[in-house]
Amino acid sequence: MSLIVQKYGGTSVGDVARIRNVASRVAACRTAGDAVVVVVSAMAGETNRLLGLAHELSPDADEREKDVLIATGEQVTVALLAIALNVAGCPALSFLGHQVRIATDSAFGKARIKSIDASRIGAALADGKVVVVAGFQGVDVKDNITTLGRGGSDTSAVALAAVLHADRCEIYTDVEGVFTSDPRLCPNARKLARISYDEMLELASLGTKVLQIRSVEFAKRYGVPLHVRSTFTETEGTWVVEEEASMEDILVSGVTYDRDEAKITLLRVPDQPGLAARVFGPIADANVSVDMIIQNASADGTTDLTFTVPQADFRRAHALVEAHARELGAAGVRTDTDVAKVSIVGLGMRSHAGVAAKMFRTLAEVGINIEMISTSEIKTSVVIAAKYVELAVRVLHDAFLGAGESS
Ligand code: ADP
Ligand code: ASP
Ligand code: MG
Repeated sequence: MSLIVQKYGGTSVGDVARIRNVASRVAACRTAGDAVVVVVSAMAGETNRLLGLAHELSPDADEREKDVLIATGEQVTVALLAIALNVAGCPALSFLGHQVRIATDSAFGKARIKSIDASRIGAALADGKVVVVAGFQGVDVKDNITTLGRGGSDTSAVALAAVLHADRCEIYTDVEGVFTSDPRLCPNARKLARISYDEMLELASLGTKVLQIRSVEFAKRYGVPLHVRSTFTETEGTWVVEEEASMEDILVSGVTYDRDEAKITLLRVPDQPGLAARVFGPIADANVSVDMIIQNASADGTTDLTFTVPQADFRRAHALVEAHARELGAAGVRTDTDVAKVSIVGLGMRSHAGVAAKMFRTLAEVGINIEMISTSEIKTSVVIAAKYVELAVRVLHDAFLGAGESS
């Protein structure tokens, strides 16, 4: 008998018929003799709907209360799935995050899991039950409800798989696996049979939303084999695994994009030691994570300092920069929220020169201007005008991964 953790995303539990479909998949697994812990997301669109309600009351709604609000989405689906399973003759028990002590820190809206008390889940499994756990939510030391950030149910599932020493964690979603690019944007994208944890980490951190980045971090740290696959077919999906020798041969594994970027430029600041510390200190103190930074010095001793932040943090970061601009001696502040980041990722980039150059050439050939560049061992990212994202992704995909048929 294996222990399997299965996670079903929002589309997979989007209505009652789909919840019934999930129940029959889980029941089939149970009938085959495996023990199953199921993690579910809120029904498709529900988290956004709830956030919209809060936004109507205030664009700066209290973070603690927003977590109380959006955690309700998953409360609905665990109950509905447990009901559907019981109806299907498969005894099931639902649990909310706090009931199985998914303990997190107190960073509302982006809390991190610290520990999970597996005893109640273990007892229910020993009793022959399917255990259905609410994804995305936890509880802090003061018993406040917390949520794990968008896409956080993936992380709930992998963390549970790690704690329970599950044989594998299956992420059921609305596509057949991890593709070479977003299949909804890039018609030539192909499903990958296997991808390394490190490449998946890069893809997730650069905008590929099929897995939340923290879920991949957990999977890597605890060696949880991860299988991303479709809720609607029986097709084998993508295995996210330890790096294998043959993976190095592939120059680029994926092309990804992130529209969640905003750019801020401090103009003509006196170029002195300590400048960056004075600009980025207050931003870090406000818990805003800065992504890319470029500084271009001019001959007259001043410099333009440009950086990007997530859209959600833009207002706060902009206000902080404006507040400090005068004392920093800047000539002004310029912002641009119509930007996006496009990246190529691949283990093979470690050992092959010229990949970045080919990327820049490919974009130049279609007239796309590159505003910022950042590279690391296995990725190259560029910031471009948001309106060119689709074109950039398609030409880069065709240049590095071919325009052939899906496999
Ligand atoms: P779920 O609700 O099941 O968690 P998500 O919407 O979070 O599903 O993630 C699945 C979506 O991720 C797909 O519908 C697809 O559009 C998007 N996606 C983006 N990049 C990729 C990629 N490289 N491979 C697969 N899916 C991707
Ligand atoms: N419901 C949450 C969200 O929409 C968590 C998840 O789906 O993973 O982000
Ligand atoms: Mg998701």
